[in-house]
Amino acid sequence: MNEASAPDPGARERVERARAWIAEARGVTVLTGAGISTDSGIPDFRGPNGLWTRNPLAEKASTLEHYLNDPLVRQAAWQNRLVSPAWQAEPNAGHRALVELERADRLVALVTQNIDELHQKAGHDPAKVIEVHGTMWWSRCWSCRDRRPMHEAVERVRQGDPDPHCLACAEGILKSDTISFGQALVPEVIEAALLAAEACEVLLAAGSSLSVFPAANIVPRAKAAGARVVIVNGQSTKMDRYADELILGELSELLPALVSS
Ligand code: NAD
Repeated sequence: MNEASAPDPGARERVERARAWIAEARGVTVLTGAGISTDSGIPDFRGPNGLWTRNPLAEKASTLEHYLNDPLVRQAAWQNRLVSPAWQAEPNAGHRALVELERADRLVALVTQNIDELHQKAGHDPAKVIEVHGTMWWSRCWSCRDRRPMHEAVERVRQGDPDPHCLACAEGILKSDTISFGQALVPEVIEAALLAAEACEVLLAAGSSLSVFPAANIVPRAKAAGARVVIVNGQSTKMDRYADELILGELSELLPALVSS
């Protein structure tokens, strides 16, 4: 899938400058968004082929209030989970390139807004991955907080239950163990992400519109702590003003070039 915008004049020089910063840095923190997984077949929300760009109503299913209060929104969300491309998706060259930073012992943390676990599947130590928006691979009961593998609930949907409820407390609404819009982040998790932003020499933000808060605050936080900020994306982001280098293009081509030493 090619979601990149028009060719970026001067990109070669910018890639080379950013590559050198990354190669020299003792600590790099990476922040990824849905754009890194589009080449693995998982659509983003706001890119040119994004779920919300094509169907603004899809935003409802990602909003906590609608999900909890409207059984039809939940039923539609379960049907979408049933056929999600994420269950079969494999990491792409962009995910794999970032693993090299960890192998070189220069990755402070990989902070991701993604919920697909493709970074872990690519080979990252799960302890290095900070999932600020949770994971779709687990379900969580909204009442008793019971957490279990998502495939169990998805199987119940496949067997005909349109809106499975919690098996532990028998009444709670089940949702994926992700942070919906309107839902607070887990304080320790976002705190760990902000600390990783302050501890790096280079912050590499890849594949995010950087428009979802508080995750996007990682960029100004890193900049204020003295890090160089490199933003790589298919189109402009809400945080471009903080970038020391802004590189537009395809992540599965750019990330291998940026982390090669
Ligand atoms: P976003 O949809 O707001 O932005 C994605 C950005 O990536 C866009 O600016 C787009 O131009 C860019 N992009 C897409 N494909 C690209 C490619 N191949 N190369 C370069 N750039 C590319 O995503 P976001 O900022 O992560 O915010 C959306 C929220 O939705 C996040 O909280 C995330 O949890 C969630 N989400 C996650 C997944 C996933 O886990 N894979 C998928 C969709 C949405």
